[in-house]
Amino acid sequence: MTAENSNLPFVCPKCRGELITDGRAAVCPSRHTYDKSRYGYYNLLLTNVGGTHGDNREMVLARRAFLAEGNYQPLASRICELTLEYTPECGKLLDAGCGEGYYTDFIEGALFDRDGATRVLAFDISKDAVREVARKNPRIFTSVAGCYDMPVGDGTVNTVVNTFSPFAREEILRALKDGGILIMAIPERDHLYELKELLYKTPYKNEVKDSALEGFSLIYDERVTFKMELRSPESILSLFKMTPYAYRTPREAQQRLTSLRTLDCTADFHIFVYRKD
Ligand SMILES: [Zn+2]
Repeated sequence: MTAENSNLPFVCPKCRGELITDGRAAVCPSRHTYDKSRYGYYNLLLTNVGGTHGDNREMVLARRAFLAEGNYQPLASRICELTLEYTPECGKLLDAGCGEGYYTDFIEGALFDRDGATRVLAFDISKDAVREVARKNPRIFTSVAGCYDMPVGDGTVNTVVNTFSPFAREEILRALKDGGILIMAIPERDHLYELKELLYKTPYKNEVKDSALEGFSLIYDERVTFKMELRSPESILSLFKMTPYAYRTPREAQQRLTSLRTLDCTADFHIFVYRKD
């Protein structure tokens, strides 16, 4: 290690020691070592099991294509505005389960324009997804890690963002400073209902869970509903592939979908802002 060594905002997932990097690898005081990938992220996943974790490449690419068309832009804008409102200047924000970084990139851009010093950290369990984040925005500190072993120190984060990812309440509480903020987005009742009508004989509405969260106080919430006008078979197929329905829809129903050229579909979300008690 040389004089160019610097502290990473992530910690060692094994011992939670500080990670120092020389730009190629990161090492903790107990000499646990993690290589930096050539794409710019660190692999801090504890399990050594081979194979793919989380979303596979096809799902990541479908989501990237669909989001790049701006179909979820109204949601991204609101998440971004709330993040600006609730994250202090020069603070630290963590996107826990960032996917391919669509929202993270929006958020980082807004925080960077505001103060240029708020650090944005993001992780996901999918390597394919994290690679996209690193490629898209090198200012974001990215790592491969799991929601139940978040690679951050206790009480070190001002804001945690959680969009449609596994929710690890205790880990989020551990990571947040006292009074820290959790901004969470989940699908609402009518989300993608028209798509489900096409796929299933008896489409169901999403169940909406109780908003109470132990250890947190709800300080703001908002439903964000809008109609998406999908105007190409590619858009419709991308939307389908990024949903869990892609795995459990009979072939016949999938074929019905691929013959479509246009689809007007409801996007329906709920954003919650919680403060750590
Ligand atoms: Zn360590």
